[in-house]
Amino acid sequence: MSSTDVKSRLESFNCYYFDKDVTQKFISFLMKKGDVIAPHKTGELSYKYEIVSDATEVVLNYSRTILPLKKAFMPPRETLINFNIKNNQYTKPQISTEPKIFFGIHSYEMQSIKRLDYSFITGLPESNYLTRRENCKFIGVAYKPDEWHFAGSVGIDINETDGFCLYFYPAKNGYIVFEITDEGKNLLDEFGEGSEVTDEYLKLNEDKFQAKIKFHHNRIPEIFTHVYNSKVWEDVAQKCVGCGTCNLLCSTCYCYDVHDEIELDVENGQRDRFWDGCMLNKFAEVAGGENFRDNLGSRNRHRLYRKFKYITNQSDKLHCVGCGRCSRYCPANISLVEIVNDLIDDYTKQQQKEIL
Ligand code: SF4
Ligand code: SF4
Repeated sequence: MSSTDVKSRLESFNCYYFDKDVTQKFISFLMKKGDVIAPHKTGELSYKYEIVSDATEVVLNYSRTILPLKKAFMPPRETLINFNIKNNQYTKPQISTEPKIFFGIHSYEMQSIKRLDYSFITGLPESNYLTRRENCKFIGVAYKPDEWHFAGSVGIDINETDGFCLYFYPAKNGYIVFEITDEGKNLLDEFGEGSEVTDEYLKLNEDKFQAKIKFHHNRIPEIFTHVYNSKVWEDVAQKCVGCGTCNLLCSTCYCYDVHDEIELDVENGQRDRFWDGCMLNKFAEVAGGENFRDNLGSRNRHRLYRKFKYITNQSDKLHCVGCGRCSRYCPANISLVEIVNDLIDDYTKQQQKEIL
């Protein structure tokens, strides 16, 4: 699948040209409006989202961060309540609603936040997540897909602008900045810099996704209706070590565990929640030691069904955004794309048998 033509996707938006200096000035301008969270380099090939303290340290030409943006709205560990057993009272820690601007965000990451919004709003709305989502602006940037990205195969274009107020597209010595919403226009009006876009800058180089998943993304949920007992799950289990990295780094996984910690006075305590993952052995263990998914085949199957079937049936969206983190950082080199393609092969063989 190729990305939608850059011009046809972006041409309806007003745009300006920012050279690199103006881009840095713009980041400094944003920093006066609230915390700016943007990608920073942390190693040779690794990046992380961090609050910007120096605009020159922001990296816009990056592959992916190790931890996804969900950490800003659902921290790896947080205290839900502090309690006193004797008085039977509790207090909830205050969650900041100060303005935050997320700068230099890729389209699949933005879409992962939309998926998490769905998960945290549906049913009983989750107030900590939703409070952190208030007063947030997102500014996107285009990216060059590497061997692990496959967002195009799950229906998310490189230049998908949904969710962004502004969108930065690399141009000669700088960026073309597209006004996506009125909020973005207001920011640019107030900033007051940036020059007119000339034809030279509008020679946008279109990055294309290679088709990685063999079926169109609309057909992926259909496969999962037929492959519950596929041998593919046993094959994956032979390689998987059950470390849970794929869950913890996943942009859209949101499972957590909750523990109460009691202080030595046996009166006061706190209730903490922290990230958990369905690939971890204890995840589906219940009282008495029974474990509903005590083998790695069933745990991998559950992980993929959560991405492509169970939540998709309710939300009409795939809940994998193709960031590639699970495959990039899997210590056993298990590729989610390969699993899905093996399942497609299995499904296709089943269909052929039925025809014969
Ligand atoms: S990261 Fe790889 S090895 Fe670890 S649980 Fe996930 S699939 Fe298995
Ligand atoms: S399943 Fe893998 S590729 Fe899909 S969103 Fe999660 S980490 Fe990214």
